[in-house]
Amino acid sequence: MSQALNATHLIHSIPCDPLTGALSVPIFQTSTFVQEAPGINKGYDYARSGNPTRSALENLIATLEQGAVGSAFSSGLAAIDAVVKLLQSGDEILAVDDIYGGAFRQFSQIWSKFGIRVRYVDTTDAANVLDAITDQTKLVWLETPTNPTLKVSDIAAISRIAQARGCLLCVDNTFASPALQQPLRLGADIVIHSATKYLGGHSDLIAGIVVTKTKELGEQIRFIQNACGAILAPHDSWLVIRGIETLPLRVEKHCSNATAVANFLLLHPQVTQVFYPGLKGHGNHDIAAQQQSGFGGIVSFTLRNDTEEAAKSVVCNTRLFKLAESLGGVKSLCCHPATMTHKSIPAERRRSGGVADSLIRLSVGLENANDLIADLQQALESLKTDDEFAASPHHKAILAA
Ligand SMILES: *Cc1c(COP(=O)(O)O)cnc(C)c1O
Repeated sequence: MSQALNATHLIHSIPCDPLTGALSVPIFQTSTFVQEAPGINKGYDYARSGNPTRSALENLIATLEQGAVGSAFSSGLAAIDAVVKLLQSGDEILAVDDIYGGAFRQFSQIWSKFGIRVRYVDTTDAANVLDAITDQTKLVWLETPTNPTLKVSDIAAISRIAQARGCLLCVDNTFASPALQQPLRLGADIVIHSATKYLGGHSDLIAGIVVTKTKELGEQIRFIQNACGAILAPHDSWLVIRGIETLPLRVEKHCSNATAVANFLLLHPQVTQVFYPGLKGHGNHDIAAQQQSGFGGIVSFTLRNDTEEAAKSVVCNTRLFKLAESLGGVKSLCCHPATMTHKSIPAERRRSGGVADSLIRLSVGLENANDLIADLQQALESLKTDDEFAASPHHKAILAA
């Protein structure tokens, strides 16, 4: 297991205000800063270029990810956009095949117009990355664990391949968070986050983060941040700092609750498959155990009655698990990827990528584990009994096939 985040170090990386002694980082709600003479200032001139509240967050996240420079953006997708702007027309990205849908949409419908091509491979086998890299490949894009089937890729092995071929490696670390995984330590060049999820942690904001291993790369990202302008506002920066203060504590509970939920689902007669990297039977359990210090708060599962109707019946009958997109907050959420987050992907492609019609994704929150299990138990009871299921047209179709 990789080393867990040091909570003492984290908490004391958040500065007190040197001017007033305020224990909490002040929110500098200002657009500009008075200059003593043209070009003579106290480190800040215009708040797009820099804001002390945002700087506190950027320095904090750089420390957590053990990188050189952090930059905060208005969303996770704005952070992804900034990283792609390191490239030029004609360059190619090699990306994880079950990438976040919003990243796929940005790559395929925005960046394709500017001559940046993206190819997708199954990165759970590092050899696929080696085989697919061409002279045009400038960036390898990983997400690990992925959404919603929680596939895990070997960051260290892929970073060695990328480095040998002169490519940058960027890891979307949203699902694990730096509390469980630090990709820069494993050899990645760039880490991005949707801080909307575990970093913010309270389902109350949209934010994105980029952290680079080197100062040079960080300066390029900072240039893009200032030139293109998708910065995080001071109040939202403050909220993310406040979220990060309790990150190790929250993530520990997310992990233990998710483990309890996964073990419950594993034994439930209506459930066929449970996706959780902490389970011994998970295809990538060993590499997850090696590079993560815990297995996270997301659990997905499929139903014996593998239909949209059955899944909808479950997600509409939970009471504690609220039906919503997003993840990583205090309150537990459930979603049905086939008709929600992955709706725009053609059914055949979606199914072959492991997103079955009945797949349900849970973002396990911070409630009591027993209450969450009881909620799932009663929601699963909404499914047909064995006799009813055997008589259903779907089951007859399976038997006939
Ligand atoms: C949500 C998410 C994003 C996009 O972030 P936003 O803050 O919604 O723009 C990117 N990657 C992953 C893995 C996500 O879950």
